[in-house]
Amino acid sequence: MQNIPEIENLIKLISKLPGLGPKSAKRIILKMINNRQELMKPLAQNLSEVYKNVIRCNICGTLKSNSSPCDNCENVTKNFNKICVVENISDQWAIENSSVFQGYFHILGGTLSNSNTQKKEDLLIDSLIERVKKNDIEEVILATSATVEGQTTAFYIQDSLKKTNIKVSKLAQGLPVGGEIESLDDGTLISAFKNRKGLNSGSESSIKPTPFISGTFEQPTDWSIHLTTYPKIPCALFFSS
Ligand SMILES: [Zn+2]
Repeated sequence: MQNIPEIENLIKLISKLPGLGPKSAKRIILKMINNRQELMKPLAQNLSEVYKNVIRCNICGTLKSNSSPCDNCENVTKNFNKICVVENISDQWAIENSSVFQGYFHILGGTLSNSNTQKKEDLLIDSLIERVKKNDIEEVILATSATVEGQTTAFYIQDSLKKTNIKVSKLAQGLPVGGEIESLDDGTLISAFKNRKGLNSGSESSIKPTPFISGTFEQPTDWSIHLTTYPKIPCALFFSS
């Protein structure tokens, strides 16, 4: 293959995309070069427009256009009383595609303790509390992954919402242990939504974290300490009702 720096750079970039390696990247590039007008030009223009105009909403965390209000949290025609909390935008899209949920979304942008660099402040948890207080929200559905990080995040949010007396539920049956929302099929997702469980009754929380394998888990009073020490805990922790 000829050594053309522009192509080499493009191969490196496309290879970074999910599910694509250098072989796929070369095929994509050849397809674009052979279809300059129909593919390459509009693709380059669209990428540029998305780069300039699409941002993450700093209230709900979903994607929005720079030039218009957020369709998820600022659309005045919507009048939902439920918020579904997810980790990532791909989770929101998966749930939307299943049509199992009608309500607002709140996209955290990650989980607590999923890496040492992930800070609590980076997640939109404070913004979630604000939204719940400001709007007539009756239920917060925690649709975080069934991973240790996802469940830790769900428990932290549940704890943060304790004083609001709002119903808090989380997805239950259907979620495989260690599974991620975005990889579930529609049937599993629908089952998980239909069988979601309440996490609180009244103002008092009825759920406590339970050690799954061994060791003890006490609800931390200082989550910043928890965030730095939690990844070092050797056993998996799961929460049951
Ligand atoms: Zn928004």
